[in-house]
Amino acid sequence: MHRRHLFGLLGPGLAAVASATDENDSVASNQATADALDEDLAGAILTIDLVAIQENWRRLRAAAAGAECGAAVKANAYGLGMMPVARALFDAGCRTFFVARPREGERLRSRLSDATIYVLDGFFAGEPGHFEMHRLRPALISLDEARGWAAFCRKIGRRLPCALHVDTGINRLGFDLDEFAHLTDDEATMADLPVALLMSHLACSDESGHPMNPRQLVAFEQVRARLPRVPASLANSSGIFLGEDFTMDLVRPGLALYGGHPGHGATNPMRPVVRLEGVVMQVRTVAAGETVGYGATWQASRESRIALLGAGYKDGIPRRFSSEPGRPSAEVALDGLRCPVVGRISMDMMAVDVTEVPVGRVRQGTRMEIVGDTITLEEAASRAGTISYELLARLGSRFARAYIGAATGG
Ligand SMILES: *Cc1c(COP(=O)(O)O)cnc(C)c1O
Repeated sequence: MHRRHLFGLLGPGLAAVASATDENDSVASNQATADALDEDLAGAILTIDLVAIQENWRRLRAAAAGAECGAAVKANAYGLGMMPVARALFDAGCRTFFVARPREGERLRSRLSDATIYVLDGFFAGEPGHFEMHRLRPALISLDEARGWAAFCRKIGRRLPCALHVDTGINRLGFDLDEFAHLTDDEATMADLPVALLMSHLACSDESGHPMNPRQLVAFEQVRARLPRVPASLANSSGIFLGEDFTMDLVRPGLALYGGHPGHGATNPMRPVVRLEGVVMQVRTVAAGETVGYGATWQASRESRIALLGAGYKDGIPRRFSSEPGRPSAEVALDGLRCPVVGRISMDMMAVDVTEVPVGRVRQGTRMEIVGDTITLEEAASRAGTISYELLARLGSRFARAYIGAATGG
């Protein structure tokens, strides 16, 4: 029933094809999403444009100047639903995917039998037989892991491809430079280690002038010189825009695929992907001098019309969205008109001043934009005191999700 509702809404040419229930999620989260999925009842709806994700992938591939363009789909594709997102990316031509955990890799394999899947958390996170069975490639992060993988390959008599993840300064997962040199000198291990990819991760790629970028590039070039025939990958979304030196053989964007601003320049070169709308549950008039919400933190300076939207902090709307004296209010939008959030965000609702909206335009059931064309992901994140990555991951995993764009095949 909710699908029919959506078709009507989206108009011709666009089709809502998937819902969170198509995703094979765990039983527990299935229950939660099923409850929220009837859009007629949901307090807020997150619409994810798979066509825009495909377009963003093409733009990033073009920006990557000849490098292969992969996709980071960890954390359930940043909360947007790994299965429909990865399928759409595969249909656009993407063949290499990065997940964090082996279980994510297993789920992805069940949907994409032909993709190359790297598991970023390393060999430690899973059993070798599990990697083998689902044809997952571990991104190995230490000498011990490399020796363990080589020993496993020797034991089963198969050369299973892996990546080597080398740390060049961010100090997260990865070989340190000395340990990596040690590995490449260890001929016995190297002989049994089918290295398909050398990778490293940038700490400051969204700041073009940051000295960490050239420093990490030089360090990674030294790493590459030790295994010159192995394809190499350094750039995440922002790294792609640092120039050709950084794109190498393969790039690994995540955020920019999902419409996030990769930094570098005032205008976001990516197409917006997510639209979050809160549904108006009631509109009330408050007299000048009255207050709205817990703590009575907001006081009307004139007679005001206040809309209550069915989304609150239990849904992932950060409580920092609350209006507070002394800092600019967060805003939501209707027909491009901005309306300030007033008072505190509650557990499952928030209040918005709609006095400037024409009477009759906003009533019970009206959807107001919390994130979308007017209120960008970056703006909403900054009002919430966070970054687009965190906001996406929080919102995506909680709201009723609807998808725009046709998926083909399984
Ligand atoms: C998450 C991740 C990416 C993608 O980063 P974005 O900034 O979202 O483009 C790439 N590489 C690694 C190792 C990651 O963990």
